[in-house]
Amino acid sequence: MKYNIAVVPGDGIGPEVIGETLKVLDRIGEKYGHEFNYTKVLAGGCAIDEKGEPLPEETVKICKESDAVLLGAVGGWKWDTLPGDQRPEMALLGLRKQLGLFANLRPALLFDELAAACPLKAEIVSGGLDLVVVRELTGGIYFGERGHKQTDMGEAAYDVEQYSVGEITRIAEVAFDMAMKRNKKVTSVDKANVLESSRLWRKTVTEVAEKYPEVTLEHLYVDNAVMQIIRDPKQFDVIVTSNIFGDILSDGASQVTGSIGMLPSASLATGNFGMYEPVHGSAPDLAGTDKANPMATILSAAMMLRYTFGLLEEADAIENAVKKVLADKYRTPDIMLNEKDPASCKEIGTKEAGDLIAANI
Ligand code: NAD
Repeated sequence: MKYNIAVVPGDGIGPEVIGETLKVLDRIGEKYGHEFNYTKVLAGGCAIDEKGEPLPEETVKICKESDAVLLGAVGGWKWDTLPGDQRPEMALLGLRKQLGLFANLRPALLFDELAAACPLKAEIVSGGLDLVVVRELTGGIYFGERGHKQTDMGEAAYDVEQYSVGEITRIAEVAFDMAMKRNKKVTSVDKANVLESSRLWRKTVTEVAEKYPEVTLEHLYVDNAVMQIIRDPKQFDVIVTSNIFGDILSDGASQVTGSIGMLPSASLATGNFGMYEPVHGSAPDLAGTDKANPMATILSAAMMLRYTFGLLEEADAIENAVKKVLADKYRTPDIMLNEKDPASCKEIGTKEAGDLIAANI
């Protein structure tokens, strides 16, 4: 099969971690007989330098014409003094909006080999941890009506949480489709004991569940969900929730996995189109030092294969290659930090990490 991928290396360590990821994708192509065509496009600080704007129209056009987008990271000290609306990070918001990316997927995957990096007790996470938070990304309180008004207690400010049946249905379908490719359990998180919008959320998710009889659905209030993620995170498979609850829960859940250098993410639109990127930023402190961990971006590419291209075996092959490299005791500096027995491990750089993962496919 042929796949067209728009590649946005961006700034800082972005081009380095993307370079290693393309190495791994090429190896997948070679082994499984696929052709990945990459079109590199500018976004972020490098686009400001070359084109005078963070998100050139040409970039958006190429992304829209591609089957998926793979992004490194944008931003850096050089552009920190620009006004807010001209900064490199505007490229991310622009891409999310213009590509209609309404579902944000943040897996929290703890590799056995990195269990020492997990702040939870070993018995809570023994046997590994693998959950994913599906967060609604373009609705809810972050996009609702807002303003100020006078009250008898003085000036007040308000932000409105609002969700339509259509918005809830499409994010719930993403979560159920994902659960079908995983362990067939969805936990919907809301605050239906208090909020009207949450009651519509719960009713709609329950209706969507009827189309997925193989998937178990449970509902949790958000306050309980936070406790459960810390108390017993292994009970979860797919968590689906609103924009604001997802913002908070996905950061919380990701922390149980240790380093930011290991965390992939995806943002999906309708029709399986998606943008895949590491959770971390451009780490200007590491740029050009060969010290950045490329695994978050490589694991993001595995998500691209699984969720946009439907290449499940190939996605597993990437994740297994990462596990093998960790099992063989290779560590980039960020994950070496939490190692209980660093003398038993070998420190590697960005390029060697990419080479080893590609060689293990
Ligand atoms: P950051 O994620 O870039 O870095 C935070 C810390 O994590 C740093 O100490 C960094 O060295 C370390 N780190 C990050 N990625 C790593 C990796 N792959 N391997 C090893 N260590 C890693 O966040 P920041 O410092 O707050 O932001 C730096 C720049 O990135 C800013 O301009 C910010 O706006 C931008 N940013 C971009 C994105 C994105 O493109 N999606 C996300 C967050 C921040």
